[in-house]
Amino acid sequence: MRTYRCVCGNRLHFGNTRCLACRRSLGFVPEWRLLTPLEDDTGRLHALALPDQPEVRRCANHQSAHCDWLVAGASSDRLCLACRLTQTIPDLSVGNNRLYWRRLESAKRYLICDLVRLGLPVVDRHRDPERGLTFDFLADQETPDGVRRITTGHDRGRITINIAEADDVHRERVRITLGEAYRTLLGHMRHESGHYYWMRLVDGGPWLAAFRERFGDERRRYADAMRAYYDHGPAADWRARHISAYASAHPWEDWAESWAHYLHITDAMETARDFGLVAPGEREDDFTPELERWGELSQALNALSRSVGVADPYPFVITPPVAEKLHLVHQIVEDAASGSLGSPSNNRFSPSLQASRSATK
Ligand SMILES: [Zn+2]
Ligand SMILES: [Zn+2]
Ligand SMILES: [Zn+2]
Repeated sequence: MRTYRCVCGNRLHFGNTRCLACRRSLGFVPEWRLLTPLEDDTGRLHALALPDQPEVRRCANHQSAHCDWLVAGASSDRLCLACRLTQTIPDLSVGNNRLYWRRLESAKRYLICDLVRLGLPVVDRHRDPERGLTFDFLADQETPDGVRRITTGHDRGRITINIAEADDVHRERVRITLGEAYRTLLGHMRHESGHYYWMRLVDGGPWLAAFRERFGDERRRYADAMRAYYDHGPAADWRARHISAYASAHPWEDWAESWAHYLHITDAMETARDFGLVAPGEREDDFTPELERWGELSQALNALSRSVGVADPYPFVITPPVAEKLHLVHQIVEDAASGSLGSPSNNRFSPSLQASRSATK
């Protein structure tokens, strides 16, 4: 994630709500992927980092969900690009649900920022009622017949996250119980978005044959594969071919895990470049040199973390077969960003903020 500069010269980080040097309040313009200082002109906000400093409004979730994203002053949208995608939020009168919702929206904003950075189309349910992207944040429910468990997952554009994942103690307990090396909210968002973009960019399209060659045949029965995985665990040699144990469960999971790692890596490399840790670079057709740079950098990242007594943030090994999968993800993303997969990017070079239709819930 790149950093930004305030009008006073101070460095600003994604998620900052106020410049710590000059105390100006800040807002994020998702269509431009720009964190901007704001000027309050008798109640009207102006984005100082944008050309002509247009009028903007706070997302309607500014207070309730601490959303710091902006909408165009002239737009009829109440909610920002990220908040518009949420269909169901938890009952905010219950326990820590408001805190969990804020954490989920924060992770989702980070994901949407990834998608905008890569030039991927973010199509909401209004533009595509059948397969547009939407999120349900749901809690397990007590019913007369017992507890109705919510499974985190994806179904034709609908991403469901069990809000218990936003409870650090719960999530860490699950991580240890399942023997996972890594479990985070952003990781969930990135993984589930992988299932979504598989449906949009691979299923039934020109990349399907290449997908099957690298990841295997997804027509293998999913329910059987998952049962086998949870009953018997991963194949003993999963490390040679997959980025994680879970990725070995089924080609769809392999893809979603690889996709999530592609987002981890490309985001981390952008951060590293922003801080001058890696030489500046252009987007390349071949992802292999970038993976080599990431190999060096992630080793340093892990070593630095050990120096301050923290567990490895990137406890993964990218073997040659995994690198080939990541390269295929890269090719498909580049293809989609160029608009040649039929759904042109709607947000990468958006020339104006005057986009959009009516607000969603
Ligand atoms: Zn400042
Ligand atoms: Zn918002
Ligand atoms: Zn999955």
